[in-house]
Amino acid sequence: MLNVGWLGLEMGFQGGLRGSAPDAGYEVVRAASRRVSNKMMGYHACDFCGDLDAASGNGEYRYYSSSGETFVAPELLLHYMEVHRYSPPDAFLEALGGGSELAWDWRAERLSAILRDEVEDPEIRWNAIFDIANWKDARAVEALRVAATDPILLDNAGFEIGESLGMVLGADAVGELGGDVAAGEILRGIESVQEKTG
Ligand SMILES: [Zn+2]
Repeated sequence: MLNVGWLGLEMGFQGGLRGSAPDAGYEVVRAASRRVSNKMMGYHACDFCGDLDAASGNGEYRYYSSSGETFVAPELLLHYMEVHRYSPPDAFLEALGGGSELAWDWRAERLSAILRDEVEDPEIRWNAIFDIANWKDARAVEALRVAATDPILLDNAGFEIGESLGMVLGADAVGELGGDVAAGEILRGIESVQEKTG
């Protein structure tokens, strides 16, 4: 994974500062920053303005590009760009700008394996629930279905499994999954995605 936008007073800005208003790059990043994952305990205020409200700052975004790179950025990235005019590296913006659907690749295969592996670290599996939704593929649905049969994952991440299924399957999610899977927290997760996307 390539790191982007981990800023602080000690490190300073790694990238340049742009003009006075968020530019096209901001919109590209905002559109690609769909779900905060890897939430940590506590909150991180912005080092530059101390703003705790602008972004809760306790998680990160991961971006899977169609060129095969994976980037990780703090939740505060959008705040840094919007308020402090931080400009991420061009390679990052270019990778996000592709816009095409991701083809199933080794990254998806690995996430699928993690979701099927009952002895894998729960936190890694929790993150895999989020990340596999980047692939609109029947194999992603299958891996999420397996995750939904694991009592620990279902208890702790039923809603997130539902969100991911809703993102991959779209409007037909409930019909395709059937009532035995699309129930409880999973159903709530599916519905929350459908409300957002209309
Ligand atoms: Zn700030």
